[in-house]
Amino acid sequence: MKASNFFVSTYKEAPADAEVVSHQLMMRAGLIRKVSAGIYNYMPMGLRVLHKVEAIVREEMNRAHAVEMSMPVIQPGELWQETGRFEKMGAELLRVKDRHERDFVIQPTSEEVVTDVARNELRSYKQLPVNFYQIQTKFRDERRPRFGLMRGREFIMKDAYSFDKDPAAAQISYQTMRQAYREIFDRFGLKYRAVAADSGAIGGDLSEEFQVIAATGEDAIIYCPESDYAANIEKAEALAPTEPRPAAAAALTKTPTPGKSTCADVAELLAIPLQNTVKSLVLATELLDDAGEPAGVQIWLLLLRGDHDMNEVKVSKIEGLNAGFRFASEAEILEHFGAKPGYLGPVGLLKPVKIIADRDVAVLSDWVCGANEVDFHYTGVNWGRDLPEPDLVADLRNVVAGDRSPDGKGVLAIERGIEVGHIFYLGTKYSKAMNATFLDVNGKPAFFEMGCYGIGVSRLPAAAVEQNHDERGIIWPDAIAPFTLVICPIAMDRSEAVQAAAERLHAQLLAAGVDVILDDRGGRPGAMFADWELIGVPHRVVISERNLNEGQLEYQHRRQTESQKVALDHVDAFLR
Ligand code: ATP
Ligand code: MG
Ligand code: MG
Ligand code: MG
Repeated sequence: MKASNFFVSTYKEAPADAEVVSHQLMMRAGLIRKVSAGIYNYMPMGLRVLHKVEAIVREEMNRAHAVEMSMPVIQPGELWQETGRFEKMGAELLRVKDRHERDFVIQPTSEEVVTDVARNELRSYKQLPVNFYQIQTKFRDERRPRFGLMRGREFIMKDAYSFDKDPAAAQISYQTMRQAYREIFDRFGLKYRAVAADSGAIGGDLSEEFQVIAATGEDAIIYCPESDYAANIEKAEALAPTEPRPAAAAALTKTPTPGKSTCADVAELLAIPLQNTVKSLVLATELLDDAGEPAGVQIWLLLLRGDHDMNEVKVSKIEGLNAGFRFASEAEILEHFGAKPGYLGPVGLLKPVKIIADRDVAVLSDWVCGANEVDFHYTGVNWGRDLPEPDLVADLRNVVAGDRSPDGKGVLAIERGIEVGHIFYLGTKYSKAMNATFLDVNGKPAFFEMGCYGIGVSRLPAAAVEQNHDERGIIWPDAIAPFTLVICPIAMDRSEAVQAAAERLHAQLLAAGVDVILDDRGGRPGAMFADWELIGVPHRVVISERNLNEGQLEYQHRRQTESQKVALDHVDAFLR
């Protein structure tokens, strides 16, 4: 590829709404361009990265005997009615109507359609196992699209669905995918962890997330450096002992005054810093729209247990909004918000339970927290807009760094991660709902045992950049770089020797299968280098007349600060 035949468009500045480094750099490097909130153009440079991610995923999925197909982006509402998800799924599911007023959805995932395929196509146990996968556009109307491709509304997912004859066979399919995921994520060249995740209603241990380690990740991972133990925080909590922590338990021997506790009282009671108790009972956070106007309110619930009286909880005043909620009992609150009861230790349960907003909201700010008495509120409590939200949440959890790991082999550590993959045993949830059966070995109809397996294809590059960048720009792992090597000729327009050498090397590398780009745009060296450093091409070769006279060129890896001279025909030694 020659740059003059391609499209390179870099910016010095990132747009103001780019909060995290991957979003900033991917915009500046011209990989993506925003079209609307959470909706992006994949520009030519960015599309090359996506294609490389897809190729790796495809190769390993095929190797694991999954079969590629493609399901429609627009799917009929009737199929989604069959599983009840048409109603249940909430605002993330984008529903549209056609000219005949028929319901359709834009696929956020494809269990319904693939189960429909299975019930129509798979008749006998002899056809099993089958694992269908697709690499396809998804749409989720995320509450807070942000961080560029990391949390888009339109994004690309690889989703796979296995069909088996019984739970034991489904286990094997799950383990096959688990292994394939390891191969895939190893090939990306990123630091990641496979962590146990909550398998929700189905139970059991068959759900894992693949998390790329990054400080800006939205998820918290609990792991034990001394053993294989790793889980996301929800799973770790589900397994954690439910006895109160010693410190908090001791504190709880002081009796709070029912109905009179302020946040400060609660803080003292639990011997935790006030900062952590701003979410003591019911919290409301104001939601602002892009123009900074109040657009609604989000209600969070922190349930304090132990001696604390939770029979009367009310948010009597939400600043500026006067929502005026009042609830008689905890059960009523839970029911109202559709939250599940759960005892998560002495400190409580913090859950975003409700968003009340009448338009798109962009900014969260100014916590107002209510104790269970009128006018006992702290207002204007900010988490700090730049902080990933769960930081404070983690402090209130009943799993903390330094605890012994459940396997007893060491102590727990916490780090942040970006969920780039998720594998899940589904059982017969969808096959039963959709009456999808095959004939088993006895000739009797049986429901398919299913599993589903996702990879965030378009999220992955963002995660890669979070992990691999410096002040000059992106540093792509070779496997997913838009180009593996860039040839930068100096003053090519003035030197026939430089031009000839550059063209020759370009042709040689192409013939050797190297994904190379020759920068023949004729720019000045400083600007040319800055462009490719920002874009993050991992290998660079500089050809200048001076070096040519010595039969040499300059090679530099993107991670190195100095170039080194290399004999003209030895460049490929660096690509291994
Ligand atoms: P998250 O917890 O980040 O919202 P999820 O658990 O809802 O993700 P899954 O339903 O497990 O996502 O989908 C499979 C994969 O799709 C995820 O592991 C993630 O990599 C990717 N993904 C999900 N939502 C988005 C999004 N809004 N933008 C980009 N990728 C996404
Ligand atoms: Mg989600
Ligand atoms: Mg998730
Ligand atoms: Mg998930």
